[in-house]
Amino acid sequence: MFTAIIKSRLADTRALLSDRGLDAFLVYGSDNRRYLSGFTAREEVFHESCGSLLITRDEALLLTDFRYQEWAQAEVSEFDILIYQAGLGALLIEQLGILPGGRLGFETAYLSCGQYQRLTKAAAEAGLQVEWVPTEGLVEGLREVKHPEEILMVRQALALTEKVFSEVAACLRPGLTEGQVAWEIERRLREGGAAGMAFSPIVAAGANSARPHHRPGDYPLQAGEPIIIDMGARISGYCADLTRTVILGEATERFREIYTLVRRAQATAEAGLKAGMESLAGDALAREIIVQAGYGEAFGHSLGHGVGLAVHEAPSLSPVKERNTVLQAGNLVTVEPGIYLSGWGGVRLEDMALIQADHAEILNELGFYKF
Ligand code: ZN
Ligand code: ZN
Repeated sequence: MFTAIIKSRLADTRALLSDRGLDAFLVYGSDNRRYLSGFTAREEVFHESCGSLLITRDEALLLTDFRYQEWAQAEVSEFDILIYQAGLGALLIEQLGILPGGRLGFETAYLSCGQYQRLTKAAAEAGLQVEWVPTEGLVEGLREVKHPEEILMVRQALALTEKVFSEVAACLRPGLTEGQVAWEIERRLREGGAAGMAFSPIVAAGANSARPHHRPGDYPLQAGEPIIIDMGARISGYCADLTRTVILGEATERFREIYTLVRRAQATAEAGLKAGMESLAGDALAREIIVQAGYGEAFGHSLGHGVGLAVHEAPSLSPVKERNTVLQAGNLVTVEPGIYLSGWGGVRLEDMALIQADHAEILNELGFYKF
C-alpha cells in the first residue's frame, strides 16, 4: 500500500483517538492491522497473533515476534517495528511506561478475554497506571469508505470471480456433487490469480439451497432443482462476493416465480441505493417487495453487507434498527436478497454496489435469467 495512503489513515486514526480522549490505541484485529500499517500477514488460527499496533500521538509501533521480523520490515515503513521474545505483554508494558496515567483504547472485537486478562494483570503487577478503554468499530469506521485503490482491487477480484463463475456454470451437469463443483471453483480461482478465497465457496443444491450458508458435500446436482453458488476471490487482500442461482434442465414454474421475485427485489434496491440513505431504508427497498409477495418470513437475513479486506464488514444493509447507519459515498456493499423454502430450496442473487452521491454503481457484469 502506498505510503501516502498509510500516512493519511494514521492521521485519521489519531484524530479519532483525540476525539475519544485516548492517549494510545492497541490494534489487535488482523484486517485493521493491515489497513493501518500495510503489513499483510494474516492469522490462520484465532489464538495466534502476527502482531499488534500501538499508536500514540507521537509514535506508531508494530509489535511482533521473530517469525515476522523480515516480512514486516519489507512491508511496513510508517511504523517502528519492535520484536518481542516473551510475548506481547512485556513489550507493551515497557512501551506503556511512557504514558503514565494514560487511557489505552483496545479493540473488544479482537482481543480475547484471556489475552485481555493476561495483559491487564501484567500491567497492574508492573505498577502501570493505565486505564484500559474498550473500543468498538474505530478502524472499521474508517474502512467503510473505500479509497479508489481499494475499489480497483475489489474490481479485479470480482472480475476473476465472475469469469470463473461463468466457466464453472457452463460445466455443470447432473451427477456432479456440490463438493466437486466447489473444488472446481477454488482451483480455477487460484489458477486465475487469486491469492486465496474470500471465503470457502458455497455450492448448495436442491433442498440444501434453503440453507443460506451451507458446506458443499456429496449431494449430486439434479435437473429441475435450484443450485445456489456463492463465491469470491481474494486479490491483494481484497474480497469479492458473488451469488447466482442456477437450474439445470427446464426451469420449474416455482423456480421462475421465486427467481423473478428475488431479481425484482434486487434490481429495485440497486436502483434506489445512494449516499445519505439510511441502511434500514436500503434494506427495505428489497424487503418490501418480498414481503408484499408473501415471502417475508423466507428472507431471514440482511439485504447486504460491506466488503473490503473482510468479506463481511461495515456498513450492513440490515433490517435491525440498532444497526441503522447512513450510507456514504465510497461504501462498497453487497445487494443479496434471497428466499429460502425448507424442503424445496432457495434463490439468492448477489451483486456488489459502490455507493455514490446520487446512485449506486453496480460492479457486476454477469447477467440473470429472463423468464
Ligand atoms: Zn456471498
Ligand atoms: Zn455476501
